[in-house]
Amino acid sequence: MSENMEKVYDVIVVGSGPAGLTAALYCARAGYEPLVLEKYIPGGQMVTSNEIENYPGFPEAVDGFTLTMNMKKQAERFGAKQTYGNVTALRLDGDVKILETEDGTVYRAKSVVLAPGAAPRTLGLPNEDALRGKGVSYCATCDGAFYKDKTVAVIGGGDTAAGDAVFLSAMCKKVYLIHRRDRLRASKSYEKKLDKPNIEIVFDTVTDEILEKDGKVGGLRLRNVKTDEVCEIAVNGVFVAVGNVPATDFVRDILDLDENGYFMAGESTKTNVPGVFAAGDCRKKTLRQIVTAAADGAVAAHGVEEYLS
Ligand code: NAP
Repeated sequence: MSENMEKVYDVIVVGSGPAGLTAALYCARAGYEPLVLEKYIPGGQMVTSNEIENYPGFPEAVDGFTLTMNMKKQAERFGAKQTYGNVTALRLDGDVKILETEDGTVYRAKSVVLAPGAAPRTLGLPNEDALRGKGVSYCATCDGAFYKDKTVAVIGGGDTAAGDAVFLSAMCKKVYLIHRRDRLRASKSYEKKLDKPNIEIVFDTVTDEILEKDGKVGGLRLRNVKTDEVCEIAVNGVFVAVGNVPATDFVRDILDLDENGYFMAGESTKTNVPGVFAAGDCRKKTLRQIVTAAADGAVAAHGVEEYLS
Protein backbone atom coordinates (compact mmCIF):
# COMPACT_ATOMS: atom_id res chain seq x y z
CA MET A 1 0.00 0.00 0.00
CA SER A 2 1.64 3.26 -1.11
CA GLU A 3 0.90 6.18 1.20
CA ASN A 4 0.42 9.60 -0.30
CA MET A 5 -2.09 11.50 1.84
CA GLU A 6 -0.74 12.87 5.09
CA LYS A 7 -4.00 14.29 6.44
CA VAL A 8 -5.66 12.22 9.15
CA TYR A 9 -9.46 12.64 9.05
CA ASP A 10 -11.55 12.27 12.19
CA VAL A 11 -13.79 9.91 10.31
CA ILE A 12 -14.05 8.47 6.82
CA VAL A 13 -17.42 7.19 5.65
CA VAL A 14 -17.33 4.57 2.90
CA GLY A 15 -20.50 4.78 0.83
CA SER A 16 -23.02 7.54 0.31
CA GLY A 17 -26.40 5.86 0.53
CA PRO A 18 -28.79 6.83 3.32
CA ALA A 19 -26.58 5.20 5.98
CA GLY A 20 -23.39 6.92 4.84
CA LEU A 21 -24.98 10.32 4.28
CA THR A 22 -26.70 10.24 7.67
CA ALA A 23 -23.47 9.21 9.40
CA ALA A 24 -21.74 12.12 7.63
CA LEU A 25 -24.49 14.54 8.66
CA TYR A 26 -24.37 13.52 12.32
CA CYS A 27 -20.55 13.49 12.45
CA ALA A 28 -20.31 16.88 10.74
CA ARG A 29 -22.97 18.37 12.99
CA ALA A 30 -21.05 17.07 16.01
CA GLY A 31 -18.05 19.08 14.83
CA TYR A 32 -15.97 16.35 13.21
CA GLU A 33 -14.76 16.54 9.64
CA PRO A 34 -16.15 13.54 7.82
CA LEU A 35 -14.94 12.59 4.37
CA VAL A 36 -17.37 10.46 2.38
CA LEU A 37 -15.88 8.13 -0.24
CA GLU A 38 -18.29 7.14 -2.99
CA LYS A 39 -17.67 4.54 -5.67
CA TYR A 40 -20.01 5.81 -8.44
CA ILE A 41 -22.87 8.17 -7.71
CA PRO A 42 -24.37 9.15 -4.36
CA GLY A 43 -27.53 7.56 -3.04
CA GLY A 44 -26.81 3.84 -3.36
CA GLN A 45 -29.93 1.83 -4.10
CA MET A 46 -32.06 4.75 -2.88
CA VAL A 47 -31.20 6.83 -5.93
CA THR A 48 -32.63 4.13 -8.22
CA SER A 49 -36.07 4.26 -6.57
CA ASN A 50 -38.70 5.99 -8.61
CA GLU A 51 -41.12 6.58 -5.78
CA ILE A 52 -40.45 6.28 -2.05
CA GLU A 53 -43.67 6.28 -0.09
CA ASN A 54 -42.50 5.12 3.30
CA TYR A 55 -39.70 7.49 4.25
CA PRO A 56 -41.18 9.72 6.96
CA GLY A 57 -41.69 13.39 6.25
CA PHE A 58 -42.87 13.08 2.64
CA PRO A 59 -46.66 12.65 2.70
CA GLU A 60 -46.86 12.70 -1.12
CA ALA A 61 -43.85 10.33 -1.61
CA VAL A 62 -40.46 11.41 -2.90
CA ASP A 63 -38.24 10.15 -5.69
CA GLY A 64 -34.87 8.63 -4.82
CA PHE A 65 -32.81 11.24 -6.62
CA THR A 66 -34.44 14.13 -4.73
CA LEU A 67 -34.08 12.38 -1.39
CA THR A 68 -30.42 11.61 -2.14
CA MET A 69 -29.61 15.20 -3.10
CA ASN A 70 -31.42 16.52 -0.01
CA MET A 71 -29.45 14.20 2.28
CA LYS A 72 -26.19 15.12 0.56
CA LYS A 73 -26.83 18.87 0.77
CA GLN A 74 -27.85 18.57 4.41
CA ALA A 75 -24.59 16.78 5.31
CA GLU A 76 -22.56 19.30 3.29
CA ARG A 77 -24.25 22.22 5.06
CA PHE A 78 -22.52 21.09 8.25
CA GLY A 79 -19.16 20.59 6.56
CA ALA A 80 -19.13 16.99 5.31
CA LYS A 81 -16.92 16.52 2.25
CA GLN A 82 -17.39 13.95 -0.48
CA THR A 83 -15.01 12.54 -3.04
CA TYR A 84 -15.02 9.63 -5.49
CA GLY A 85 -13.06 6.57 -4.61
CA ASN A 86 -13.56 2.82 -4.72
CA VAL A 87 -11.95 1.45 -1.55
CA THR A 88 -10.09 -1.75 -2.37
CA ALA A 89 -7.68 -2.19 0.56
CA LEU A 90 -7.78 -1.30 4.25
CA ARG A 91 -5.49 -1.45 7.26
CA LEU A 92 -7.66 -1.11 10.31
CA ASP A 93 -5.40 -2.13 13.18
CA GLY A 94 -3.83 0.75 15.06
CA ASP A 95 -5.12 4.19 15.94
CA VAL A 96 -4.86 5.51 12.39
CA LYS A 97 -6.87 3.49 9.89
CA ILE A 98 -5.61 3.44 6.30
CA LEU A 99 -7.86 3.11 3.27
CA GLU A 100 -6.62 2.74 -0.30
CA THR A 101 -8.77 3.32 -3.34
CA GLU A 102 -8.61 1.61 -6.73
CA ASP A 103 -6.51 4.45 -8.21
CA GLY A 104 -3.88 4.09 -5.47
CA THR A 105 -4.91 7.09 -3.36
CA VAL A 106 -4.43 6.49 0.36
CA TYR A 107 -6.61 8.08 3.02
CA ARG A 108 -6.06 8.05 6.78
CA ALA A 109 -8.67 8.37 9.51
CA LYS A 110 -9.05 7.92 13.24
CA SER A 111 -12.36 6.13 12.72
CA VAL A 112 -14.28 4.57 9.84
CA VAL A 113 -17.97 4.08 9.07
CA LEU A 114 -18.47 1.37 6.48
CA ALA A 115 -21.74 1.86 4.61
CA PRO A 116 -21.07 0.19 1.24
CA GLY A 117 -24.66 -1.02 0.82
CA ALA A 118 -25.55 -3.90 -1.40
CA ALA A 119 -25.55 -4.69 -5.11
CA PRO A 120 -28.28 -6.43 -7.14
CA ARG A 121 -28.15 -10.22 -7.09
CA THR A 122 -27.94 -11.83 -10.52
CA LEU A 123 -29.87 -14.89 -11.66
CA GLY A 124 -26.67 -16.67 -12.64
CA LEU A 125 -28.01 -17.68 -16.08
CA PRO A 126 -25.43 -18.44 -18.81
CA ASN A 127 -26.00 -15.42 -21.09
CA GLU A 128 -27.23 -12.99 -18.41
CA ASP A 129 -23.96 -11.12 -18.25
CA ALA A 130 -23.49 -10.99 -22.01
CA LEU A 131 -26.97 -9.48 -22.46
CA ARG A 132 -26.55 -6.95 -19.67
CA GLY A 133 -27.35 -3.57 -21.21
CA LYS A 134 -28.84 -5.38 -24.23
CA GLY A 135 -32.16 -6.09 -22.62
CA VAL A 136 -31.05 -7.34 -19.20
CA SER A 137 -31.32 -4.64 -16.55
CA TYR A 138 -31.12 -4.44 -12.77
CA CYS A 139 -32.66 -0.97 -12.48
CA ALA A 140 -36.14 -0.18 -13.80
CA THR A 141 -35.89 3.49 -12.88
CA CYS A 142 -32.64 3.83 -14.83
CA ASP A 143 -33.58 1.83 -17.94
CA GLY A 144 -37.40 1.68 -18.02
CA ALA A 145 -37.72 4.52 -20.52
CA PHE A 146 -35.98 2.41 -23.18
CA TYR A 147 -38.97 0.05 -23.18
CA LYS A 148 -41.80 2.45 -23.97
CA ASP A 149 -44.68 0.51 -25.59
CA LYS A 150 -42.64 -2.72 -25.42
CA THR A 151 -43.11 -5.97 -23.54
CA VAL A 152 -40.91 -6.65 -20.53
CA ALA A 153 -40.59 -9.13 -17.69
CA VAL A 154 -39.69 -8.41 -14.09
CA ILE A 155 -38.23 -11.32 -12.16
CA GLY A 156 -38.68 -11.46 -8.39
CA GLY A 157 -41.39 -11.26 -5.78
CA GLY A 158 -40.20 -8.65 -3.30
CA ASP A 159 -40.88 -4.93 -2.91
CA THR A 160 -38.37 -4.04 -5.61
CA ALA A 161 -39.92 -6.40 -8.18
CA ALA A 162 -43.46 -5.25 -7.35
CA GLY A 163 -42.46 -1.57 -7.46
CA ASP A 164 -40.61 -2.10 -10.75
CA ALA A 165 -43.61 -3.84 -12.31
CA VAL A 166 -45.92 -0.96 -11.31
CA PHE A 167 -43.42 1.63 -12.54
CA LEU A 168 -42.90 -0.13 -15.89
CA SER A 169 -46.63 -0.67 -16.44
CA ALA A 170 -47.03 3.08 -16.89
CA MET A 171 -44.86 3.05 -20.02
CA CYS A 172 -44.73 -0.53 -21.32
CA LYS A 173 -47.34 -2.30 -23.37
CA LYS A 174 -47.16 -5.39 -21.20
CA VAL A 175 -45.33 -6.37 -18.02
CA TYR A 176 -44.91 -9.95 -16.82
CA LEU A 177 -44.05 -10.28 -13.14
CA ILE A 178 -42.44 -13.69 -12.76
CA HIS A 179 -42.09 -15.12 -9.27
CA ARG A 180 -40.76 -18.49 -8.20
CA ARG A 181 -43.38 -19.03 -5.45
CA ASP A 182 -47.17 -18.92 -5.21
CA ARG A 183 -47.31 -15.61 -3.39
CA LEU A 184 -45.41 -12.40 -3.39
CA ARG A 185 -43.00 -11.42 -0.65
CA ALA A 186 -43.76 -7.74 -1.38
CA SER A 187 -45.79 -5.78 1.15
CA LYS A 188 -49.58 -5.87 0.88
CA SER A 189 -49.68 -2.25 -0.28
CA TYR A 190 -48.60 -3.45 -3.73
CA GLU A 191 -51.59 -5.76 -4.23
CA LYS A 192 -53.92 -3.03 -5.48
CA LYS A 193 -51.23 -1.24 -7.47
CA LEU A 194 -50.36 -4.43 -9.35
CA ASP A 195 -53.97 -4.92 -10.36
CA LYS A 196 -53.62 -3.41 -13.83
CA PRO A 197 -54.71 -4.75 -17.22
CA ASN A 198 -51.15 -4.75 -18.60
CA ILE A 199 -49.53 -6.55 -15.63
CA GLU A 200 -49.61 -10.34 -15.63
CA ILE A 201 -48.27 -12.08 -12.54
CA VAL A 202 -46.84 -15.51 -13.28
CA PHE A 203 -46.47 -17.52 -10.08
CA ASP A 204 -44.53 -20.72 -9.35
CA THR A 205 -42.26 -20.00 -12.27
CA VAL A 206 -38.53 -19.75 -12.78
CA THR A 207 -36.52 -18.54 -15.74
CA ASP A 208 -34.35 -21.27 -17.22
CA GLU A 209 -32.95 -19.24 -20.10
CA ILE A 210 -32.81 -15.72 -21.44
CA LEU A 211 -33.38 -16.06 -25.18
CA GLU A 212 -31.34 -13.96 -27.55
CA LYS A 213 -32.59 -12.40 -30.78
CA ASP A 214 -30.32 -10.28 -32.98
CA GLY A 215 -27.82 -9.80 -30.15
CA LYS A 216 -30.47 -8.59 -27.71
CA VAL A 217 -32.99 -10.11 -25.34
CA GLY A 218 -35.80 -11.64 -27.37
CA GLY A 219 -37.61 -13.78 -24.84
CA LEU A 220 -37.50 -16.06 -21.82
CA ARG A 221 -37.78 -19.78 -21.41
CA LEU A 222 -39.88 -20.33 -18.29
CA ARG A 223 -40.58 -23.41 -16.22
CA ASN A 224 -43.45 -23.96 -13.83
CA VAL A 225 -41.86 -25.44 -10.71
CA LYS A 226 -45.03 -27.37 -9.75
CA THR A 227 -45.89 -28.93 -13.11
CA ASP A 228 -42.48 -28.79 -14.82
CA GLU A 229 -44.28 -27.35 -17.82
CA VAL A 230 -41.98 -25.26 -20.01
CA CYS A 231 -42.99 -22.29 -22.17
CA GLU A 232 -41.40 -19.40 -24.00
CA ILE A 233 -42.53 -15.79 -23.88
CA ALA A 234 -41.38 -12.98 -26.16
CA VAL A 235 -40.03 -9.96 -24.27
CA ASN A 236 -37.87 -7.00 -25.25
CA GLY A 237 -36.36 -6.59 -21.82
CA VAL A 238 -35.96 -8.36 -18.52
CA PHE A 239 -35.61 -6.58 -15.20
CA VAL A 240 -33.96 -8.74 -12.58
CA ALA A 241 -35.11 -7.84 -9.04
CA VAL A 242 -34.21 -10.88 -6.97
CA GLY A 243 -32.68 -9.15 -3.97
CA ASN A 244 -29.24 -7.87 -3.17
CA VAL A 245 -25.86 -9.07 -2.01
CA PRO A 246 -23.86 -6.98 0.47
CA ALA A 247 -20.91 -5.12 -1.07
CA THR A 248 -18.48 -6.34 1.57
CA ASP A 249 -15.95 -8.32 -0.47
CA PHE A 250 -13.27 -5.67 0.12
CA VAL A 251 -13.24 -6.42 3.87
CA ARG A 252 -13.87 -10.16 3.70
CA ASP A 253 -10.55 -11.09 5.31
CA ILE A 254 -10.42 -8.22 7.80
CA LEU A 255 -13.81 -7.93 9.52
CA ASP A 256 -16.34 -10.43 10.85
CA LEU A 257 -19.05 -11.21 8.29
CA ASP A 258 -21.88 -13.73 8.47
CA GLU A 259 -22.28 -16.62 6.00
CA ASN A 260 -24.06 -14.31 3.53
CA GLY A 261 -21.43 -11.59 3.70
CA TYR A 262 -23.27 -9.18 6.01
CA PHE A 263 -21.31 -7.38 8.73
CA MET A 264 -21.62 -9.05 12.11
CA ALA A 265 -22.34 -5.74 13.81
CA GLY A 266 -25.25 -5.40 16.23
CA GLU A 267 -27.54 -2.42 16.80
CA SER A 268 -24.52 -0.46 18.06
CA THR A 269 -23.07 -0.82 14.52
CA LYS A 270 -19.70 -1.65 16.13
CA THR A 271 -17.63 -4.16 14.19
CA ASN A 272 -15.01 -6.42 15.74
CA VAL A 273 -12.40 -3.68 15.24
CA PRO A 274 -12.52 -0.68 17.60
CA GLY A 275 -13.25 2.58 15.79
CA VAL A 276 -14.79 0.81 12.80
CA PHE A 277 -18.58 0.83 12.38
CA ALA A 278 -20.90 -0.82 9.84
CA ALA A 279 -24.16 0.87 8.87
CA GLY A 280 -27.04 0.23 6.50
CA ASP A 281 -27.99 -2.68 4.26
CA CYS A 282 -24.53 -4.23 4.60
CA ARG A 283 -25.21 -5.03 8.28
CA LYS A 284 -26.90 -8.21 9.55
CA LYS A 285 -30.39 -7.01 10.48
CA THR A 286 -34.07 -7.84 10.13
CA LEU A 287 -35.41 -4.87 8.18
CA ARG A 288 -33.56 -3.23 5.30
CA GLN A 289 -35.23 0.06 4.47
CA ILE A 290 -34.03 3.62 3.88
CA VAL A 291 -35.27 4.59 7.31
CA THR A 292 -33.34 1.80 9.06
CA ALA A 293 -30.21 2.60 7.03
CA ALA A 294 -30.47 6.25 8.06
CA ALA A 295 -30.97 5.17 11.67
CA ASP A 296 -27.82 3.03 11.46
CA GLY A 297 -25.92 6.05 10.18
CA ALA A 298 -26.98 8.10 13.21
CA VAL A 299 -26.03 5.29 15.61
CA ALA A 300 -22.66 4.81 13.89
CA ALA A 301 -21.94 8.55 14.19
CA HIS A 302 -22.75 8.34 17.88
CA GLY A 303 -20.27 5.45 18.13
CA VAL A 304 -17.66 7.56 16.33
CA GLU A 305 -18.20 10.43 18.79
CA GLU A 306 -17.81 8.08 21.76
CA TYR A 307 -14.72 6.48 20.23
CA LEU A 308 -13.00 9.75 19.36
CA SER A 309 -13.65 11.30 22.73
P1 NAP B 1 -36.02 -9.25 -1.35
O1 NAP B 1 -37.03 -8.70 -0.40
O2 NAP B 1 -34.88 -10.04 -0.83
O3 NAP B 1 -36.82 -10.12 -2.41
C1 NAP B 1 -36.15 -10.83 -3.40
C2 NAP B 1 -37.17 -11.59 -4.21
O4 NAP B 1 -36.49 -12.26 -5.24
C3 NAP B 1 -37.92 -12.62 -3.39
O5 NAP B 1 -39.27 -12.64 -3.78
C4 NAP B 1 -37.21 -13.93 -3.75
O6 NAP B 1 -38.08 -15.03 -3.76
C5 NAP B 1 -36.77 -13.66 -5.16
N1 NAP B 1 -35.54 -14.37 -5.51
C6 NAP B 1 -34.37 -14.42 -4.82
N2 NAP B 1 -33.46 -15.13 -5.49
C7 NAP B 1 -34.06 -15.55 -6.63
C8 NAP B 1 -33.64 -16.32 -7.73
N3 NAP B 1 -32.38 -16.81 -7.82
N4 NAP B 1 -34.52 -16.55 -8.71
C9 NAP B 1 -35.77 -16.07 -8.66
N5 NAP B 1 -36.25 -15.32 -7.65
C10 NAP B 1 -35.39 -15.08 -6.63
O7 NAP B 1 -35.35 -8.09 -2.26
P2 NAP B 1 -35.91 -6.66 -2.71
O8 NAP B 1 -37.27 -6.76 -3.22
O9 NAP B 1 -34.85 -6.08 -3.58
O10 NAP B 1 -35.92 -5.84 -1.36
C11 NAP B 1 -34.73 -5.70 -0.58
C12 NAP B 1 -35.05 -4.91 0.68
O11 NAP B 1 -35.39 -3.56 0.33
C13 NAP B 1 -36.28 -5.48 1.41
O12 NAP B 1 -36.08 -5.34 2.78
C14 NAP B 1 -37.40 -4.60 0.93
O13 NAP B 1 -38.47 -4.52 1.85
C15 NAP B 1 -36.68 -3.26 0.76
N6 NAP B 1 -37.39 -2.43 -0.23
C16 NAP B 1 -38.40 -1.65 0.23
C17 NAP B 1 -39.11 -0.88 -0.65
C18 NAP B 1 -40.23 -0.06 -0.11
O14 NAP B 1 -40.52 -0.16 1.06
N7 NAP B 1 -40.89 0.76 -0.88
C19 NAP B 1 -38.83 -0.89 -2.02
C20 NAP B 1 -37.80 -1.72 -2.46
C21 NAP B 1 -37.10 -2.50 -1.56
P3 NAP B 1 -38.72 -15.61 -2.39
O15 NAP B 1 -39.86 -14.68 -2.08
O16 NAP B 1 -39.15 -16.97 -2.79
O17 NAP B 1 -37.63 -15.58 -1.38
